[in-house]
Amino acid sequence: MIPIRRDSVTTEDPLRQPLRVLPGVGPSRQQVLAKLGLNTVRDLLYYLPFRYEDRSHPSPLGYLAPGPVVVVGRIKAVEDRKLRGPKVQRVTTIVLADRTGQATALFFNQPYLAHELGPGQVIMVQGRAVRRPGGWEIAAHGWELWERGSAHAGRIVPVYQVTQGLSVRTLRGLIRAALDISLPAIVDALPESLRTRLGLADLPWALEVVHFPTDLPSAEKGRRRLAWDELFALELGLGMARRYRREREKGVRHVPDGPLLAAYFASLPFSFTAGQQKAWNEIRADMEAAAAMNRLLQGDVGSGKTVVAGAAIVKAVEGGYQAAMMAPTEILAEQHGFTLSRLLGPLGIQVRVLTGTVEGRARQEALQAIASGRTQVVVGTHALIQEGVSFANLGLVITDEQHRFGVRQRAALRAKGSSPDVLVMTATPIPRTLAMTVFGDLDVSTIDGLPPGRHPVKTVWFRRSERARVYHGLARELELGHQGYVICPLIEESEKLQAQAATELAQELQSGYLRKYRVGLLHGRLSAAEKAAVFEQFRSGELQVLVATTVVEVGVDVANATMIVIEEADRFGLAQLHQLRGRVGRGTAQSYCVLVADPNSDTARRRLETMCREHDGFRIAEADLALRGPGEVLGTRQSGLPDLRVADLVHDQDLLFKARAEAEQILDEDPLLRSHPLLRQSVAEMFRDRAMFATTG
Ligand code: ADP
Ligand code: MG
Repeated sequence: MIPIRRDSVTTEDPLRQPLRVLPGVGPSRQQVLAKLGLNTVRDLLYYLPFRYEDRSHPSPLGYLAPGPVVVVGRIKAVEDRKLRGPKVQRVTTIVLADRTGQATALFFNQPYLAHELGPGQVIMVQGRAVRRPGGWEIAAHGWELWERGSAHAGRIVPVYQVTQGLSVRTLRGLIRAALDISLPAIVDALPESLRTRLGLADLPWALEVVHFPTDLPSAEKGRRRLAWDELFALELGLGMARRYRREREKGVRHVPDGPLLAAYFASLPFSFTAGQQKAWNEIRADMEAAAAMNRLLQGDVGSGKTVVAGAAIVKAVEGGYQAAMMAPTEILAEQHGFTLSRLLGPLGIQVRVLTGTVEGRARQEALQAIASGRTQVVVGTHALIQEGVSFANLGLVITDEQHRFGVRQRAALRAKGSSPDVLVMTATPIPRTLAMTVFGDLDVSTIDGLPPGRHPVKTVWFRRSERARVYHGLARELELGHQGYVICPLIEESEKLQAQAATELAQELQSGYLRKYRVGLLHGRLSAAEKAAVFEQFRSGELQVLVATTVVEVGVDVANATMIVIEEADRFGLAQLHQLRGRVGRGTAQSYCVLVADPNSDTARRRLETMCREHDGFRIAEADLALRGPGEVLGTRQSGLPDLRVADLVHDQDLLFKARAEAEQILDEDPLLRSHPLLRQSVAEMFRDRAMFATTG
């Protein structure tokens, strides 16, 4: 944990004042504002509009056109009338004139207007213009006094997300007031030299124009400056966390490479690619160091992450430690267990899968073997740690991106006497921007490139009406002695329905398009033994086609499979499609991925087109991020990191890269930001209440 001094709250700091210092904010309004997360003056300043409305150029009354209009005129007459009819009861008509002509504005059911407005006043009206026999009428939905310096009229005005009990107009007024009381007192934390070098706007100006711009490019310039502050504070904080951990958090000092590891490398039928070697060097250096390893290992599908993780496990075991690998689901745990047994079993390393399905005596026996250290490698779900399985000597934890192994879990383990190194693995590449934010507290190893001899998988998209052609193509591959997968449409609601759908698809194909071939079935409801048997039949070539659910997504590795058909491919995310496609193209023959889909949205169509065009997992990940946004791409929301309120990881990528580089440079010289108290304070502000940082002082 990083000690960041939370500098004592100075009451004169206008940004920290509660909102009740603003005129018109009493206890009830304060409550409504709090619903939007607005508690201090600072919160208001950083509550940005989601759009702007140009009220700087009203239409001349003599030249109206039907449709939405903004007009300004001097009031000539106001009249309030009752109407007969089923709904509307009152109408206030206001005759407006300017130098070019006149029009009548109609306000429904706002009789108080007749008291508030009178001849001679100049007002702005927004509404919808209609030509009537007697002249132009405007069905009004808003009005403002036309005054010099108004926050609401005669300019580009900001429009904010509001909530019940709070109008946009009220909020706009409050933000205006907040700016007025605080702008003169704002101190820019960003050193002037850095600001100039990066071409960023100055802070008070940015805060003003992001709300009340004179033109839209200024608003964007202001927003970028605020986005910078956010990204810079984030990268400084994450950089501090990484440095602190490297220096202070003790891990296991693993032994230098020995004969067991040499045997492991000798047992592989290939040598590491340059990318694997580089990642392995980084991991091995971390493991041998006294500091705790907390590293993300990423690489494209098929880049060979598993064998690198395997080396880390062997290294831990070589020094007498145990290793645990944790997967998000039991199926995946079983698959990892299978792969690791195959890799490590021949070296005499005992690998055990411990999931919820291991019960009774078998479980007792497994727990015993783990506690005694006889079992060196345990694969399970995250319940492994939660349920307090006790290890004799746990030295390495390998986990997946969805379940970060955070400070809390580490603390829990340390309390039980072990303090393992941690390697976080991803099944698919993570966009660089996410790696630098959400995973920014980890060191990152990236495996660049694929093992030699791989051809890009040819990817095509067919409509459902063309299924006959698709399966004819699959049959041709089978005739060549190759094998194939057919992935059944994704049903997320229930594993049972998913299994049923897979069963039906297998039956349909076996009795239809693929009746001449041997079709097998794999889904999540099969027992571990059944699954292993089906895998084995497919691997040995006894089965030619495997109809499967996403069970095969990770870890299935049959080089003779050259075609994968994905039914209703538009139901899958890009990362998932890429992962599925990675099941083929593992041998030297040309492989194919066929997407079958009738997409019903533009986004879905673009996803399919992206898949056909792109083969690089990192580029696909970036595309996925742009199409779906970070929340979706990461699946579950990551805990422990601050929200970005202003910055956008797609739009502001360039700023993020610069923020990282600048943060690194500053921290290299001044790891605790001692000579940058303002920056340190903005980091503390950003990471307030986050487990990763402990605040002191
Ligand atoms: P990932 O987990 O990154 O998707 P895998 O670890 O499953 O990739 O590896 C994909 C396939 O490539 C496996 O069959 C593996 O044995 C093989 N492989 C890994 N590294 C190499 C290499 N350096 N040369 C040749 N084949 C390799
Ligand atoms: Mg270490």
